[in-house]
Amino acid sequence: MNTTELDLRHEIVRLGRMLHDRFLVSATDGNLSYRLDDDRILATPTGMSKGMMSAEDLVIVDSRGAIVEGERNVSSEIGMHLLIYRLRPDVRAVVHAHPPTATGFAAAGMALDQPLVSEVVINLGAIPLALYGTPGTPELAASIEPLVPVHDAILLANHGAVTYGRDLLNAFMKMETVEHFARIALTAHLLGRQCPLTAEQISRLAEARDRYLASATEKPQITEGERIE
Ligand code: 13P
Ligand code: ZN
Repeated sequence: MNTTELDLRHEIVRLGRMLHDRFLVSATDGNLSYRLDDDRILATPTGMSKGMMSAEDLVIVDSRGAIVEGERNVSSEIGMHLLIYRLRPDVRAVVHAHPPTATGFAAAGMALDQPLVSEVVINLGAIPLALYGTPGTPELAASIEPLVPVHDAILLANHGAVTYGRDLLNAFMKMETVEHFARIALTAHLLGRQCPLTAEQISRLAEARDRYLASATEKPQITEGERIE
């Protein structure tokens, strides 16, 4: 096993523990995976607490979901992960969880699609609600299929949520954002008043997002005079 794969195993274990510690999953809920290359996906095992895994509990499957390495059986939701990797070449990591407030919306048949919080509009846009599909079956993967190309976070009706991104931390943070936003949306709902951003405010946010993304990837410009030796 090379160092990178070992690091990725440890990162999945660490984020699984964080999902559990932050109550984004309970019992054996949830799963995480990482695309190592075109035909190898590192994934969590089925039926284990994602807060209590060790690096050797993880398995590697091929692009059809067949085990190529590992002692345990792969997550029952591997079909959903594989579909996302197939439809989104830019995605390298997938996180599925059952965050309680967001899943409350999913159980109430409500998407998180009102533009109530500027940072959420910038980072995720609207979070749609997929039709219900039985967990662990191809029905669940089929339910998200039309949404995957245009969203990075999806609510799964009467079940939970799935998020994905360029790396494991990015996918995990999107799951945190989904739950945090669900709590804010619920609070606004309980207060009995919602003031969504206007179309004009949203278009200005799109410009702000471009500037924000550019500055987040740019190295800070240090001039000779400022350099600390
Ligand atoms: P696995 O333990 O099989 O990954 O299943 C957890 C889950 O959340 C099913 O939807
Ligand atoms: Zn689930």
